[in-house]
Amino acid sequence: MKTITTHYIDGEFVESHGREVMDIINPTNGKVIAKVTLADEEDARRAIAAAKRAFATYSHTTKQERAEILHRLHETVSARVDDLTNVMVEEYGGAIQFSRLIIEAAANVFLAAAKALQELPLTRSWGKTTVTLEPVGVAGLISPWNANSFFLSAKLASALAAGCTAVMKPSEISTLQTQVWLECVHAAKLPSGLCNVVAGRGDVVGAELVRNPDVAKISFTGSVAVGKTIMRDGAATMKRVTLELGGKSPNILLDDADLKEAIPNALVIAFLNSGQACVAGTRLLVPRSRLAEVRQAILDAIPAFPAGEPADPKTAVGPMVTEKQYERVQWYIRKGIEEGAEVLVGGEGHPKGLEAGYFVRPTVFVGVNNNMAIAREEIFGPVLCVIAYEDEEDAIRIANDTDFGLHAYVSGSDVARARRVASRILAGRVAINGMLDDQQAPFGGFKHSGVGREFGTFGIEAFLEPKAVME
Ligand code: NAD
Repeated sequence: MKTITTHYIDGEFVESHGREVMDIINPTNGKVIAKVTLADEEDARRAIAAAKRAFATYSHTTKQERAEILHRLHETVSARVDDLTNVMVEEYGGAIQFSRLIIEAAANVFLAAAKALQELPLTRSWGKTTVTLEPVGVAGLISPWNANSFFLSAKLASALAAGCTAVMKPSEISTLQTQVWLECVHAAKLPSGLCNVVAGRGDVVGAELVRNPDVAKISFTGSVAVGKTIMRDGAATMKRVTLELGGKSPNILLDDADLKEAIPNALVIAFLNSGQACVAGTRLLVPRSRLAEVRQAILDAIPAFPAGEPADPKTAVGPMVTEKQYERVQWYIRKGIEEGAEVLVGGEGHPKGLEAGYFVRPTVFVGVNNNMAIAREEIFGPVLCVIAYEDEEDAIRIANDTDFGLHAYVSGSDVARARRVASRILAGRVAINGMLDDQQAPFGGFKHSGVGREFGTFGIEAFLEPKAVME
């Protein structure tokens, strides 16, 4: 049994002031694997004070000095890719193949931020005016459990690139992963106070960050409900906010799509990170004329997406992170059946032989109507809804008929046509023919999927304040 009783403040692991002890549960069998002591408001305030002291110096560093720090973090995170992957499998239940990819991305995001910083002009002048982009201040970085080390790295990289110092509040159920990640940060020997991490409850430590006048900016990734709370409560101290929230992303299959490629891709996109992904393409929009073929193609492709033990390299879908998340997915599967959708694959309950943990059956519904709850609400599990459309206009209408706008996907053989459709989708990112990523491209949502953007120069600008000096 592991025990963690410390937080990371001012460059050191310090004993928690908070006294609440929480169990960390292995999602594959429901057994307690660690006991962690949670931070309280006082821990958060100590971390904020350390970040404020460090900001006085760090905010004046040059691009080169910041880039050097980002390169060091890249090296120390890269050196622990195996350990970070294993702890993501153990604590979160991430399928090992996916976990390794996301941890590699967590290491690379520091280099991507250094590159973006190099490309971003921090001073511009014309006539007698000079505009400088100034770091906004202490940044509160609040992240969810579904890709803990990646979110911590991505948020820290942008904040440090901008010259901000950080107080980070990871999800409390990711404390073992945070601990290994912090060992990487410690090994990078940053100046004290640049990166402080306090793992505690959202309504305790997160709320303190949102309310504290010494925190200038909140960058949050999580649910829409909490995002709204942060925007509302942050107004009292005029917080700058970046909110990365949920999604219900459409994947438009155009009528010229090659199903042999497009359907396996659609399942990768839907079941990504065991379906616990904000960018999962959970609404597959299919031309009515090709529905029968699509059904068959899904049945042919599904054996390649088994649920299983997360440490097994053949597993595509690991357990849900908690019992609560397991119950949530079950509720939506029952809801879909009640609403009249047909279960083509999967359904309620555990997959055979995986009854002990929080495993669910990868599920595909057909005959879904875009007004059903399973098509409108984010399930955050491996549940794909197939929705028929009549023509291209109808597909675009259904794709945009959602409160969300984080991501979208278009699949088709005629790329010019796919681009034309992509140009009409209301989403922060649209990927054509597959699951694609670019760490320099802006990431964030339209509508209820959020406010602001992360990654690349856009992500760094979110931590900067323009200031004009006129002579
Ligand atoms: P959550 O909103 O419950 O929690 C996210 C973080 O906010 C956690 O660290 C939590 O402790 C903290 N928090 C909770 N209440 C708070 C409060 N009152 N004040 C400040 N902080 C508070 O989300 P979750 O369950 O951890 O993660 C799943 C959600 O995250 C899904 O809705 C998913 O779509 C979203 N998500 C979005 C993205 C994106 O980039 N858009 C990426 C991953 C996950």
